[in-house]
Amino acid sequence: MRKSIQHGRLCLTFDDRNFDNWLKVLPLWRKYDARGTFFVSGAVDATAIGVMQRLQNDGHTVGLHALHHAKYPNKKDTYIEEEILPQLDVCRNAGIKIRSFAYPYSLRDEESDGRLFEYFDFLRGGAWQIREKDQEMVSIDRLFLKDVADKQLFYGMSASGNFDFHEVSQSIFRAAERGETIVFYAHDIPEKLAPSHHISVGQLEVLLKLARALDMDICGMNEL
Ligand SMILES: [Zn+2]
Repeated sequence: MRKSIQHGRLCLTFDDRNFDNWLKVLPLWRKYDARGTFFVSGAVDATAIGVMQRLQNDGHTVGLHALHHAKYPNKKDTYIEEEILPQLDVCRNAGIKIRSFAYPYSLRDEESDGRLFEYFDFLRGGAWQIREKDQEMVSIDRLFLKDVADKQLFYGMSASGNFDFHEVSQSIFRAAERGETIVFYAHDIPEKLAPSHHISVGQLEVLLKLARALDMDICGMNEL
């Protein structure tokens, strides 16, 4: 039975292997009663397992992001065997609950979704795939989900780099007002903003504070 999402749901997601900073900001998430989703690429070695367990123990969701961070279109025939199963098998054995996958470079199509839904409940692509030139994020209805299906593809919006705070906050306001679920993505969470693809600790706190003030559910994908 799914929780009611009267005030909207914010899913913040983070990719790759930015383990040090992901762990460093765990107290910040606790402060706002918030959880995120962390998509891990590369070998699920002892280091990765340790990080995944710490994230999971704090209530966060761990997802997968491909063993070699390979582009799906380049490896269609071998993607499951070479990119998915080696990560998935180790996670299962280590007691890491995996339900979600983020496409490297957001490269996907309906055929890839169909194959990956055999292993995952939730897939994340990128909003740029469906955004028309100059279209405002807040006006793209497919980014705002009233209901989350048992097998759901999300188009993640960027909350990284020098992102447009107005654009991001407009989307958060809309989701809060209409009880919708929205997904953002970034990568590392450094103290000072590194060039592109990342979100600084300060920026993350601004988003957490805003969503909390709007009484949104700030949750990981395992909670959907
Ligand atoms: Zn990536």
